[in-house]
Amino acid sequence: MSVDRLVILGVGLIGGSLALALKKCAAVAQVVGWSRREQTVLKALELGVIDQAETDIARALRGADIVVIAVPVGAMERLFRQIAPHLRQQTVVTDVGSTKGSVVEAARRAFGKLPPGFVPGHPIAGIERSGVEAAFAELYEGRRVILTPVAESDCAAVARVRNLWELCGAEVVEMDVLHHDEVLAATSHLPHLLAYALVDCLARMDESEEIFQFAAGGFRDFTRIASSDPQMWHDICLANQDALLAMLERFSGDLAQLTSAIRRGDGEYLKRTFLQAKQTRDRFCG
Ligand code: NAP
Repeated sequence: MSVDRLVILGVGLIGGSLALALKKCAAVAQVVGWSRREQTVLKALELGVIDQAETDIARALRGADIVVIAVPVGAMERLFRQIAPHLRQQTVVTDVGSTKGSVVEAARRAFGKLPPGFVPGHPIAGIERSGVEAAFAELYEGRRVILTPVAESDCAAVARVRNLWELCGAEVVEMDVLHHDEVLAATSHLPHLLAYALVDCLARMDESEEIFQFAAGGFRDFTRIASSDPQMWHDICLANQDALLAMLERFSGDLAQLTSAIRRGDGEYLKRTFLQAKQTRDRFCG
């Protein structure tokens, strides 16, 4: 058994799927789930995602081996402050937040000095549904998990968190906090923003009813992620403001160039851009 008592704070899609994956491979003796709303942990208990349901943070953390924080990034600082008095010296604490700079800063403010067991992380896996009902054991199979250990992170704690994710079938990579936020701004945060913006733009047009009736596969593919949780993405966009703004500025410049190519009828520019994009996508997404 790898973990005796795993405590998941925030039993939604990501935390719930981690619990299910570790139970599936019998890597954990007991999973304790904590949530602010009682109905969430009772649902998680009923679904067999957790073994013990708690809404009291002190009771949840009693005897914890590993603590996984899986709430929206904007809620993390408050939770760090709540857990700080109840952590043991050897407790490993990790999170799954989609931004890392903001989480590390929040932890520094809340803990004062970062505990050596603190190992920030981010699974690059998800679906557009949320809540514990959406959780499933295979979510992390063949997916990547980024760990962004900080100077204070203890090597043994990093190894335990790495092992946790590998048991779920994920490939673990380590990255610098700042670099993580830049990479994710480009590959995840900007695409989500664009999907939301496009759907909202069309929805506000007078003829939107008709437009959506004729929305075919391409529109569905492009906008699938606009069905993601608005609160979560609100938090992410504000938490990764600098990197996201830099990407938005860069992308707006490219969009302006495409706009002017269309205006001047520059087919060569369009063809070159589309071909380059197709080749890149085919190479990376196969
Ligand atoms: P989720 O399914 O909506 O679950 C969120 C959980 O956090 C729920 O248990 C909820 O508790 C709790 N929560 C929400 N707001 C809270 C608050 N203000 N204070 C305390 N607890 C709160 O969300 P998720 O998709 O699992 O996302 C969780 C984390 O994983 C986020 O940090 C997100 O950035 C990260 N992440 C998400 C994805 C993805 O694709 N979904 C991928 C990678 C990482 P109640 O039910 O009791 O309200």
